[in-house]
Amino acid sequence: MEVFKGQNILNFIKELPDDDACKAYLAKMKWQDGFTCGKCGHTKGCEKAGYKYQCYNCQHVESATANTLFHKVKFGLQKAFCIVFEMSTSSKSISSIQMGKRFDIRQGTAWYFMQKVRTSMESSRQYPLSEIVHVDEFTVGGKEEGKQGRSYDSKKKKAVIAVELNNKHQIKRAYVKSIEDYSSKSLTPIFEEHIGAGAKVVTDKWRGYEPLKKTYNIEQKLSSKGKNFKELHIIIMQVKSWLRAIPTHVSNWHIQKYFDEFCFRLNRSQAKQTIFHKTMEKMVTKKPLYQSQIKQILSV
Ligand SMILES: [Zn+2]
Repeated sequence: MEVFKGQNILNFIKELPDDDACKAYLAKMKWQDGFTCGKCGHTKGCEKAGYKYQCYNCQHVESATANTLFHKVKFGLQKAFCIVFEMSTSSKSISSIQMGKRFDIRQGTAWYFMQKVRTSMESSRQYPLSEIVHVDEFTVGGKEEGKQGRSYDSKKKKAVIAVELNNKHQIKRAYVKSIEDYSSKSLTPIFEEHIGAGAKVVTDKWRGYEPLKKTYNIEQKLSSKGKNFKELHIIIMQVKSWLRAIPTHVSNWHIQKYFDEFCFRLNRSQAKQTIFHKTMEKMVTKKPLYQSQIKQILSV
């Protein structure tokens, strides 16, 4: 299929001028490797008008949006595409208030849909960091920092970050994970999910990393006020300014979504030409996420 490339909004509107064009784009993506019935799993069927497919086995008619993160989108598909475009191509975070105004939808509606887009931006965990990887923890929200050592201010959200550098010390990729505390147990998942066993990991002298040395190649260096970890601190500052507009009393689930969005874009800064389509691929292959599910997660 012909995929949309680039970051030019005028081209974007020209290529995807209305809901129908977006539906056609979605249908092409969804069934590019053939049809599989969402109800019975049968792989034979025929195309129907309106970019739908009918299963030969159970007669179920499936729309292009069914079983994707566009499932039951409450406003037009073109607006949904535009939100994906904005979120995947702009370098600043856009609030749901702003997004609502821009596309004439309620702020709450925009917010829920934006959470779905962020969900598509979660890492697949298929490509662990493999070169030089600097790991550190940081906090967001709460009072300003200035104290030495680990902070235990409960209003602050804690996070751990892994930044991959090449041998010229240029930043390649990063992952950020929300954590409850700085224990080894809380620090382990970012290693398991995002750091390859062959990576050369560097941390500061925090004892929480000690037990991980059994599995990973970890060198612990004195931080010397961050001078040894310059690149890491550049990214931490970027994450913090990314989150500046966001209330800090949000849940860990919620803050993880913002981390995922930040890392998704950072990790694709060399592949901006195809970032919209890549996001779309993820929107299509991820299981639907319903407003009721999000409400439930947030109420726990
Ligand atoms: Zn079927």
